[in-house]
Amino acid sequence: MVQHLPGLQLRHGQPGGNHQCGHPGHTAAGDAVVRYLPGDEYNAEVAAGGRGGPAVGLPRPDADGADRRYGSVRRHPADQHRDQAQGHAAALAGATGRIRRQEPVTVRYRDRAGGDGHRGREPSRTGSKSRQRRRQHLSPHCRQSRGGSDLTNPFWSPALADLQPYVPGEQPRGRKLIKLNTNENPYPPSQHAMATLADPALPEALRRYPDPESVDLCATIATHCGVQPEQVFVGNGSDEVLAHAFYSFFRREEPLLFPDITYSFYPVYCNLYGIEYCTPALRDDFTVDVDDYAGPAAGVILPNPNAPTGRILPLEEIERLLQLHPARVVAVDEAYIDFGGDSAATLIDRYPNLLVIRTLSKSHALAGLRLGYALGQAHLIEGLQRTKNSFNSYPIDSVAQHLGAAAISDEAWLQESSGKVIDTRTRVAETLHELDFEVVPSMANFVLARPRGMGAEAVYGALREKGILVRYFNKPRISEYLRISIGTDEEMDALLGALREILAAPGTSQNR
Ligand SMILES: *Cc1c(COP(=O)(O)O)cnc(C)c1O
Repeated sequence: MVQHLPGLQLRHGQPGGNHQCGHPGHTAAGDAVVRYLPGDEYNAEVAAGGRGGPAVGLPRPDADGADRRYGSVRRHPADQHRDQAQGHAAALAGATGRIRRQEPVTVRYRDRAGGDGHRGREPSRTGSKSRQRRRQHLSPHCRQSRGGSDLTNPFWSPALADLQPYVPGEQPRGRKLIKLNTNENPYPPSQHAMATLADPALPEALRRYPDPESVDLCATIATHCGVQPEQVFVGNGSDEVLAHAFYSFFRREEPLLFPDITYSFYPVYCNLYGIEYCTPALRDDFTVDVDDYAGPAAGVILPNPNAPTGRILPLEEIERLLQLHPARVVAVDEAYIDFGGDSAATLIDRYPNLLVIRTLSKSHALAGLRLGYALGQAHLIEGLQRTKNSFNSYPIDSVAQHLGAAAISDEAWLQESSGKVIDTRTRVAETLHELDFEVVPSMANFVLARPRGMGAEAVYGALREKGILVRYFNKPRISEYLRISIGTDEEMDALLGALREILAAPGTSQNR
């Protein structure tokens, strides 16, 4: 039996009705609303209905009739059991469980923009009619709607029409804002690193192609991370490293697993590469329950600390994940690891399935340089190189190779600047507590916090009025929270002062 989703007709991409940032990028697909909020680099755009919600493919309407669940194509077995226990047995028996066991398929929609009257919803031409139908039902989030002109553009390939691009974070121009919305480092990069720009050898280096394998840079990274040079892969930002990792390791019959609230680029890459995924719900306190990640999987990926929660998963738990999937890659995205967490890099020699991914964008204050890297055993690194050399031989320019190596060598700079960020984070968290915020414990350079005295969205808007930009997610589970990047002490004092005013204003419950 195949469950039919109501409302599968494509709705054209429409601005998200209640999203406040005024950014485009919201699209609706059937009854499953898919939102790429004006996201920033590290946000949970993937929202699921939480534990015990209905199986995906069986939308649970919100007040406005839209299903907010996005992501869980098929529930993970652990979740299925929980759901069954909670009375959703019928829903699961109807579709998810059966399909999952009988016919794991990779959803690859084609012909989305075909001009032959099949526009907009036909899955792959291969396979039986019933399988095609089931594929449709497996993956409501894949039926991305596009603007009408996109669909009729004769120059666009069907695959292009199928893409669901990531929308990067707001980088306001002109207006001077205190920018606490994209987790950039508030301090200038290492002087030692900046000095490489004046290197007299640079013009000659720029005249030639860069070293395609970034050998010197990899050697420097290896030294500073305590691994071998053949255990390092570099990419044009960790987003590119992630892309290659998805392509190299996760395109399999089983679904990839990542948390319901996490970095919003993960589902984008899944869509790009036709990877199915399941999104086990974080616990109510936003911690990961590793037991949810048992069962067949193409692999696991999660940021640690997680974004946008800031929560860290202890290394013992990472080890449990690695042990659950000895024949699959477990990728740990350590974009924020330098702000106090313990890196999984120490586990690399013991786990052939561990890939650690890092970036210079946050802790090294080099988001503009675009440099990220992966650490793992040589066989994984070789896999990433195969993909990279099938895509772009020269992803890291000469400037980035030299400047990046110098930045990584400047450990004193890293110690000092991340120490300052951590101190400021501690102070801000305490003050937010005093201002009656619930603050999620963070090991990152941001905090996720819920104002108890006023709606988060209203606080977001009021801060914006005062020229302070933080991140608000109009999404289930975190819609009453703000994600606040840790800036300089002056910036944070301005934020806290503004919050005091906002929360003390007549009409808010702070005046009760
Ligand atoms: C910022 C971020 C990235 C991307 O970093 P870049 O190196 O700038 O591409 C990847 N993953 C997470 C979780 C992030 O927060």
